[in-house]
Amino acid sequence: MKPLSPTEIRESFVNASQGESERIPLPGLHEVLWDDREYLGWRDPQARQRGYLVYWRGDTPVGIVLRASESALRPGISAMCSLCRITQPSDQVTLFSAPRAGQAGRDGSTVGTYICDDLACSHLIRILPPASDMQPSPEEILAGRSESLVARVEAFTSDVMRTA
Ligand SMILES: [Zn+2]
Repeated sequence: MKPLSPTEIRESFVNASQGESERIPLPGLHEVLWDDREYLGWRDPQARQRGYLVYWRGDTPVGIVLRASESALRPGISAMCSLCRITQPSDQVTLFSAPRAGQAGRDGSTVGTYICDDLACSHLIRILPPASDMQPSPEEILAGRSESLVARVEAFTSDVMRTA
């Protein structure tokens, strides 16, 4: 993804007030490997139930404020992140809810979805199987996963932004 500046990130949140956006703690952007990201995701170190996701929707940065569910998934089972679709132990996948943008969100309407607990889908999809004659090359697998991840982030974001 294209790099994001702190200002672009703060102005990107579609489901937070301006005051809330200004208080969001930003991650260390100089450490981000932008080329290896489909979206920038992080948890709030001060308020662990909060998470944030920002990506480029065309030429516009769009950010979503997320809240992790208090109730964890049953331990010992596997669960799948709805964005990267990678199956993991259930403690690494969390139900997040996002207030809808605008009045609907202020009235309490939310969109819920299961996402990697650390919001690091981009890292997971880059763990590739070794090359084999039986399947597409690792580069092709990654390209497909990357495209699908962006498409699912788009769909989730569209749902959050849908005001009707
Ligand atoms: Zn994921």
